[in-house]
Amino acid sequence: MQKHNQKEHLYKLLVIGDLGVGKTSIIKRYVHQNFSPHYRATIGVDFALKVLNWDAETVVRLQLWDIAGQERFGNMTRVYYREAMGAFIVFDVTRPATFEAVTKWKEDLDSKLVLPNGKPVPAVLLANKCDQGIDVLMNNGIKMDQFCKENGFVGWFETSAKENININEASRCLVKHIIASE
Ligand code: GDP
Ligand code: MG
Repeated sequence: MQKHNQKEHLYKLLVIGDLGVGKTSIIKRYVHQNFSPHYRATIGVDFALKVLNWDAETVVRLQLWDIAGQERFGNMTRVYYREAMGAFIVFDVTRPATFEAVTKWKEDLDSKLVLPNGKPVPAVLLANKCDQGIDVLMNNGIKMDQFCKENGFVGWFETSAKENININEASRCLVKHIIASE
């Protein structure tokens, strides 16, 4: 039930990153609580809505925008990014090339979208498929906190859509930053 004094926020969030890193799976896990091992490329624009009871006074509605198979072209149109309030940039820990693409995605995002206050949109980095036990991050000796600082991410999480690891936490982190910047 909507209470009288409740505030409501609607945020458009982007989920971007290379093909096959698990973007659609993360959204499915987060919104529908399920996972499928069968790969199906996303075709057309896909939205999902997640409602969070943020605190006693605040309801947050997240409109998650899945990429529409356009990731194969390496960048997105301004129309897709328009009016987004936050972004998840996803890579696959089993495929180092998808991590190398992260900075490219971040640059594409920041070049096409700024907040009304002129700042870049808050972005959280997701190291997905952490259930696979392959740790490219450690293997490459990459210091993720440092990487995030240098590349303007507000945080990062090792996630698994398969095992439902850290997806809620990553979302709360992003929403917290969005609320703080408003
Ligand atoms: P997208 O192209 O980025 O949307 O990637 P998908 O969500 O379609 O996932 C690509 C493939 O990776 C599918 O076969 C998924 O089942 C698989 N996948 C996605 N997330 C995970 C995960 O966290 N762990 C594992 N083991 N597989 C995953
Ligand atoms: Mg997809």
